Amino acid sequence: MTARGSCVVVGAGPWGLAAAVALREAGHAVRLLDDGRHAAGHAAAGMLGPWSETEPGRPDLRDELFRAAAAWPDFAAGLSSDGSDTGYHPSGTIHVAIGGEQIGPLRRRAEQMTRPDDDHRWLGGRALRALDSGIGPGVGGGIHLPDEHQVDPRRLITALAARAERAGVERLSAAAARIDMVDGRARGVHDDAGTLHPGRVVLAAGWRSAELSDRVPLRGVKGQIIRLRADSVTDLPCRHIIRTGDVYVVPRPSGEVVIGATMEERTDRHALAGDVHRLLEDAFRAVPGLSELPIVETSAGVRPAPADGAPALGRDADDVIWATGGFRHGILLAPLVGTAACAAVAGEPIAISAWDPARFTPTVPRTAAAT
Ligand SMILES: Cc1cc2nc3c(=O)[nH]c(=O)nc-3n(C[C@H](O)[C@H](O)[C@H](O)COP(=O)(O)OP(=O)(O)OC[C@H]3O[C@@H](n4cnc5c(N)ncnc54)[C@H](O)[C@@H]3O)c2cc1C
Repeated sequence: MTARGSCVVVGAGPWGLAAAVALREAGHAVRLLDDGRHAAGHAAAGMLGPWSETEPGRPDLRDELFRAAAAWPDFAAGLSSDGSDTGYHPSGTIHVAIGGEQIGPLRRRAEQMTRPDDDHRWLGGRALRALDSGIGPGVGGGIHLPDEHQVDPRRLITALAARAERAGVERLSAAAARIDMVDGRARGVHDDAGTLHPGRVVLAAGWRSAELSDRVPLRGVKGQIIRLRADSVTDLPCRHIIRTGDVYVVPRPSGEVVIGATMEERTDRHALAGDVHRLLEDAFRAVPGLSELPIVETSAGVRPAPADGAPALGRDADDVIWATGGFRHGILLAPLVGTAACAAVAGEPIAISAWDPARFTPTVPRTAAAT
């Protein structure tokens, strides 16, 4: 492989790993720094839900979410061809309304969000229970999304890390402390031991990317999440991902069942008794059989959320390549990251203009990429 230049990637979460793999496979020498603090990806549920995640009035995001979902089968197959298992599982998703008061809002959302090519039919409670017998008697109706699947983010991270290692990415346990700037351009990263790692800088440190550059206004949004375990796939209390307005339940073939998640404007990683209690209560109303399973973990992660809700995936005015801002859908979007990072390093125009990090500094003239 011909070396095409050095890159230093900060952060070995799903986005940093996806970028590192793609850059290495494109012929760059890649050094990957990670400080070993848990990634948001470690907490994540792994729902691949483009419809579920789209907010009304965000067509830019919707189209990319659907594009990412369509890319997932090949992305997972590519990783599993190495012998890794991402836990990609075509479970489908059911949005349910509990009690009469939730039916109106869910129906309205379905009407607002449906595209002509979507096949989202409203089903009554009895029909939903015929589809998934785990759905509780208090569910009055809902929508079946047969194309919204799941992946196991922890397995995904392991699979990407193995792929990176095999490809020859040099991984270091180190915290990036600051970006090295020369004549207004990023030329490398200093770690907290003072060592300079030279190369094109790819900033994929999740919400903590904001500690290294303020070019993208980024905040952390905490999510608490619970993991239960069934003895086997036949003991799972439901087969589909079940979502209400308040909570989701993700049953995995491994027997793991994930219940999440809170959305909080804070960055600590404690799981609090009261929040765990509320999540469980809401989840039991949707899927009563959950109450029979042992709790194996309560945890929290912090989502990277840019000020305008869209990711930052491209080159900023300091020549830093941003690869973060996946917010609630960073696992879903992971298949789009590698190609975008390679294009940014090559100085190509960003394919998804709404995600250009330079949108936050429009007065700074763009310069040609330093290669
Ligand atoms: C509770 C919860 C549930 C979620 N569920 C879903 C879901 O169902 N579907 C979905 O698509 N998304 C989901 N997400 C969102 C998803 O997890 C994130 O968008 C995604 O993990 C972002 O990936 P990332 O690589 O940008 O950041 P992260 O996953 O946060 O990884 C960042 C990495 O950078 C490292 N790092 C940070 N600072 C430094 C530094 N200075 N030096 C070196 N390393 C550093 C960190 O240790 C970490 O390893 C969820 C998130 C949470 C919290």
